[in-house]
Amino acid sequence: MTTLINPRAIPGLAKTVYTGDTLQGVPVISHLGVGDLAAGQVHRFFFQGVQMGTGQHWYVPVLVAKGAVKAAASEASAPCVGLVAGIHGDEVSGIDAVQRVMAQLAPQAMAGSVVAVLGVSRPALEYTRSHWLTAQGGGSLVDMNRVWPGDETGANAATRHAGLLWNRLLINNIDIVLDYHTVTTGSDFTLFLFADLRQILVRQLAELFPVEQIQNDPGLEGTLETALVKAGIPALTLEVGGPRRFDAGKIALAVEGSLNVLKHCGILDGPLGRTAAEAGTVVGDALETIRATAGGFLELLVDLRDRVTPGQPVALQRNAFGDVVAEYRSSVSGEVAVVARDALCEPGSRVMQILYSQGVAPN
Ligand SMILES: [Zn+2]
Repeated sequence: MTTLINPRAIPGLAKTVYTGDTLQGVPVISHLGVGDLAAGQVHRFFFQGVQMGTGQHWYVPVLVAKGAVKAAASEASAPCVGLVAGIHGDEVSGIDAVQRVMAQLAPQAMAGSVVAVLGVSRPALEYTRSHWLTAQGGGSLVDMNRVWPGDETGANAATRHAGLLWNRLLINNIDIVLDYHTVTTGSDFTLFLFADLRQILVRQLAELFPVEQIQNDPGLEGTLETALVKAGIPALTLEVGGPRRFDAGKIALAVEGSLNVLKHCGILDGPLGRTAAEAGTVVGDALETIRATAGGFLELLVDLRDRVTPGQPVALQRNAFGDVVAEYRSSVSGEVAVVARDALCEPGSRVMQILYSQGVAPN
């Protein structure tokens, strides 16, 4: 269990700093130190994020469930797990999943702690948009999952907001992070994990989720997952289906996997729920992305989780007169992971992504 403890965390350096403000009865903090919070309780805060142009702040809702059960002298203490949702503002199923995990915790009967960050990208969430709209340049959109670990002195407010969360909330408290997403508006996704399975701790966590598909990949620069893994903190990106609405079936499975992680880490007692083994999770190491070559209306010939083979037609596109202007085929043998749900399709936009295994090149 000791290997699960964040090597960057320095207990005692992280203190909870109360600004003295309360919002809707909830205390505002500018720093979180889980170590100085009372055990056996769920604490509710607004974390003071970056300022807006008018001088007020964006506040991020945070829950901290701090367990009262101490480890025996012979055991390593249970870790602090971070559940992060709402880095993209149209991906609401992750927020619901994290709320449902937190509702099942009884701090008096648990060990370790769980920190829930319920809506990172506040302006994006307020308008159900993927990206953070800054006032700079007449309105510039920032993808909050390309700016991590953030920078408190960065060149836009969104990057500074990420830096505040990284430095003052996450890095000195949290040993493991689950980052909840969905696909963006206009598309649909399976229940999917992005994970760097080369990392043994990441692999152990990934296998605890009864997801439909896992992509084993080295990560993407600027994502929270990759920034954390580089900092020595195991992290996964969980995709809970489609955007803008709660996907109840996928949320239930995401919650089951998340509770499995808390049990695996010694935070909760009890038998594991379903895992990847029971779910028959399909693992690949690449996504073929098919992009529209023309403008037109899209007809899907396959849907999520369908198996496809090389050369198989997967979608058609018609112009305004009804003529077929493009036919799209898979070039791989794999399983459909992402599909466009908007029928209108511009050239260059994503039609489909297919999870497959690149395998070992023949020699
Ligand atoms: Zn996302």
